Amino acid sequence: MTEPAVDLDLLTRWVREFARVIGENAGYLSDLDAAIGDADHGINMQRGMTAVVAALDESPPADMTALCKQVGMTLVKSVGGASGPLYGTFFLRMAAAMGSGDSVDAAGFAKALRAGVEGVVQRGRAEAGDKTMFDALAPALDALDAVLAAGSGLDAALTEATVSAETGRDATESMVARKGRASYLGQRSVGHIDPGATSAAMLIAAAATAFAAGG
Ligand SMILES: [Mg+2]
Repeated sequence: MTEPAVDLDLLTRWVREFARVIGENAGYLSDLDAAIGDADHGINMQRGMTAVVAALDESPPADMTALCKQVGMTLVKSVGGASGPLYGTFFLRMAAAMGSGDSVDAAGFAKALRAGVEGVVQRGRAEAGDKTMFDALAPALDALDAVLAAGSGLDAALTEATVSAETGRDATESMVARKGRASYLGQRSVGHIDPGATSAAMLIAAAATAFAAGG
């Protein structure tokens, strides 16, 4: 049995699902940011993903690379604060890693995600334990690779990746923030889940949802 490939249709469903989840949780994400930042993460991400969906509706991209590029550029243009450049970089790096074919297999998709996360790391200079989106994304990608390497399909791998992303998100609660505005709080940042790690876990969960529905 051949595993369904990742194609433009699936990527589009992922992005739309992420926009839906962000819209649903915008208030929650801004509440998290209110505790250790400036209370705008939810509203920023919602503005960005609303613009992303509008761009998809207005000018549907012709291929996977164009889709990732359009999403990345739209986020960079429309989202203020740190999250626009970080999420924008994620999708722009994915675009560069996607290749020119009509589809990629599970390993190719995992590779593109990894390229996106590496872009985030370079841009944000975050390391594991800094209480950032990286603390959700890094364990998610490790789980994705491990499950794929063990021979399971992308559905199962993304389900495991989501569990790991959410575990990583929850682990940020006890961390001292070392990046961004939250780092000004020092020790007082402990006891709060990082909003960026929370939206990043939503990004992975949205992929699992989209691929489970569309495979
Ligand atoms: Mg903020």
